[in-house]
Amino acid sequence: MADQKNARVANSAEPARTITGAASSQKTPPKIVPLIFEESSDKRRGSDLPGGDSSERRAREILGDDLCRSDIEGFPELSEPQVMRHFLRLSQLNFGQALHFYPLGSCTMKYNPVVNDELAGLPGFAAIHPLTPAHLAQGALELMVRMERALAEITGMDAVSLHPAAGAQGELAGLLIVRAWERTRGSVRRKVIIPDTAHGTNPASCSLAGFEVVVARSSKRGYLEAQEIRRLLEGNDVAALMVTNPNTMGIFEPEMPEIAAALHDNGALLYMDGANMNALLGVAKPGHSGADIVHLNLHKTFSTPHGGGGPGSGPIAVKRHLEPFLPAPRIVDRAGRWDFDYDRPHSIGRLRAFHANFAMVVRAYAYILALGRDGLEQASLIAILNANYVRKRLEARYPTASHEPTMHECVLTHDLEEKAKVSTLDIAKRLLDFGIHPPTIYFPLIVHGALMVEPTETESRETIDSFVAAMTQIYEEALSNPETVKTAPHTLALSRVDEVTAARRPILRWTPP
Ligand SMILES: *Cc1c(COP(=O)(O)O)cnc(C)c1O
Repeated sequence: MADQKNARVANSAEPARTITGAASSQKTPPKIVPLIFEESSDKRRGSDLPGGDSSERRAREILGDDLCRSDIEGFPELSEPQVMRHFLRLSQLNFGQALHFYPLGSCTMKYNPVVNDELAGLPGFAAIHPLTPAHLAQGALELMVRMERALAEITGMDAVSLHPAAGAQGELAGLLIVRAWERTRGSVRRKVIIPDTAHGTNPASCSLAGFEVVVARSSKRGYLEAQEIRRLLEGNDVAALMVTNPNTMGIFEPEMPEIAAALHDNGALLYMDGANMNALLGVAKPGHSGADIVHLNLHKTFSTPHGGGGPGSGPIAVKRHLEPFLPAPRIVDRAGRWDFDYDRPHSIGRLRAFHANFAMVVRAYAYILALGRDGLEQASLIAILNANYVRKRLEARYPTASHEPTMHECVLTHDLEEKAKVSTLDIAKRLLDFGIHPPTIYFPLIVHGALMVEPTETESRETIDSFVAAMTQIYEEALSNPETVKTAPHTLALSRVDEVTAARRPILRWTPP
């Protein structure tokens, strides 16, 4: 998981070592699995059958022996069983959505259907080279065009680019489009409004695109009010508002149409961060509430692997007036064949190599076709139901920060800090002992000690009930035996890590002893 909100997962300042066996909060490091380099001993080998098709043999055939090294200095030498155990142990130290309930708010850690992987692995998709000329890649281009159309339909927008490699890069692309649009109007507005509930990537993307951030305060009820936006527009120097809907409080922004009208009257644009689209599929379209630009996270809403599991994909969708600015090349129909159009004078250009994280697009397209319009709507409705179920079942001990209706995630609070000096971090760590990945914590920033829970639609009632039971037990434990919670986790290889040292003095490279 490479999400910034999740920076609290195990991130040791120890040299890159892995750990096995039960550990507790003891001072001395528990027993560890050595690095693969440390397990190495001279001349150990895995089996390589004669006549087999090893990659080394093929490389030698193609390149010739004089270009191939006979040895790599310091390269680990192990037997096949050693390698097998090493990597299997590593995999067991991992917390992942395929193995655990993973209600990490705002990240939509839903199940990734295996059929998506099978389809992305079809040789015609998997083996295509990124430099294949358009006339030999008609199937892939057809799939991309159909995907663009599907996302345009889902968002209620006019044109889509699959180019950006992640949500944050979609944001940057969108903001560069705002800049390019401003320039064609001869205007130099330098400010972008961002609500105080925004995801950290929003202000970061603004800075990267050369804008100055103006923070909009959310109302006490946890959403943006049109009057606050009108106030911030008074100087006529705002280029855009960047807003997530539903916002990171899990609340649908009720004043969006009015806010969009205020922005447009003022000559500003509305950027919608669509990372939370899992609440809206088939339910509401950003384009209908005035958005000019939306980005989507295929690795969240559309079930492609997330974080360490695979590259992201952050397509952007725009209204017609912004289409000329989309990244180039665009895929166009030339006499019945798909071709790349590079002749796009207003385009913001490329943000990365090649056209898209194509295998992610294939996976997400498979997901959209598998579910269909009704299935997508059903997915969002169940995601909303599951979040409301969590909210209701936990409200006696962990009330929500806002009284507004909950969409696909809920932001919980608690009084354990005052009652038992047990922190949100302690609760999150204790959940690990139950085999549950913690929710997002201390975010959004406006909620003290927040626990942001997003169960997603792919979890069963039984799984969610076991989460509720764990959270309930932790609350009771915190009152009766706070030390158990404050020293958790007790069942994992690694307990608490020195996060400050890990961040300030990371050891990223192994050096031989
Ligand atoms: C995840 C997320 C992003 C950033 O997406 P990445 O693909 O992680 O770059 C932006 N905004 C919100 C609300 C998000 O949840």
